[in-house]
Amino acid sequence: MDLVFEAQQVHRQHFRPNEVQVSTLLSIKTGACPEDCKYCPQSARYDTGLEKERLMEVEKVLEAAERAKSIGSTRFCMGAAWRNPKDRDMPYIIKMIQGVRDLGLETCMTLGMLSPPQAKALKEAGLDYYNHNLDTSAEYYDQIITTRTFADRLNTLDNVRQAGMKVCSGGIVGMGEEAADRTGLLMELANLEQPPESVPINMLVKVAGTPMSNVEDLDPFEFIRCIAVARILMPQSHVRLSAGREEMNEQMQALCFMAGANSIFYGEKLLTTSNPDAERDQKLFERLGITPEARQDYSDEVHTAVAEEAIQASRQPASKPLFYDAS
Ligand code: SF4
Repeated sequence: MDLVFEAQQVHRQHFRPNEVQVSTLLSIKTGACPEDCKYCPQSARYDTGLEKERLMEVEKVLEAAERAKSIGSTRFCMGAAWRNPKDRDMPYIIKMIQGVRDLGLETCMTLGMLSPPQAKALKEAGLDYYNHNLDTSAEYYDQIITTRTFADRLNTLDNVRQAGMKVCSGGIVGMGEEAADRTGLLMELANLEQPPESVPINMLVKVAGTPMSNVEDLDPFEFIRCIAVARILMPQSHVRLSAGREEMNEQMQALCFMAGANSIFYGEKLLTTSNPDAERDQKLFERLGITPEARQDYSDEVHTAVAEEAIQASRQPASKPLFYDAS
């Protein structure tokens, strides 16, 4: 409880406490991935009954982005099950980015490893965020994936940063790791030259047919503890409740928000596993007094207005203290 309390205090110093950023995730190319991530139903190595799909048509992606916008998402994330994008895919990817941007949404993609020229091309197309998770600690990593190294992942994150994009990177807990591995993952992320702007924390979704299908359940409080530590270590990052939310009851989700989670995925599907539907999320938000965070606008006028507001507020005695003296 001390940890959750501290995390909430840190959270209030950097964010509006009752706002949660909302993204929608779409799988733009499903299954048949050559990698061997042991948790993933999209790996071609495991028989999970998942239907493979080719790269989606640009128009279909844009239709999904419009729907995401209509339910209040401010960011549209597109994921492809690839080791890395091929050059022949790049023109389509670029059209998707440009189209989603034109709808007024922030853009995010997760396409596997990126070379410096690919990262540069995505940035030039207007991609705001690139997602590439570290997954777990450096020590536990080879128990989970053998087809790419932890260093490969750091390399891609570096290419993304060098190209000038924002980084979304987190991991998965509940994969049979030790508490020290969860800490190791968070320390690794927090000690990147610049911590990720967005940190998805996933609870393993055990999918039949994957090597992780029978792993022991993680105590939900361990998950909440992980969110709290992520908030404290990366005070300015959005900490996102990602996969596994379907299995969390509302009380657990509320405790995660209390511990500093301030971003979720809206929508029925999270890549290939289901996600609580948007209406249920909206109702939960209403009951908790949470509002979706408006899209961050980085224009000069907005920066000036926010700075002026902050200066004014700092000159006035606090009219709304965060805490009151109950005694
Ligand atoms: S997590 Fe990504 S890279 Fe790994 S198997 Fe799944 S789709 Fe492929």
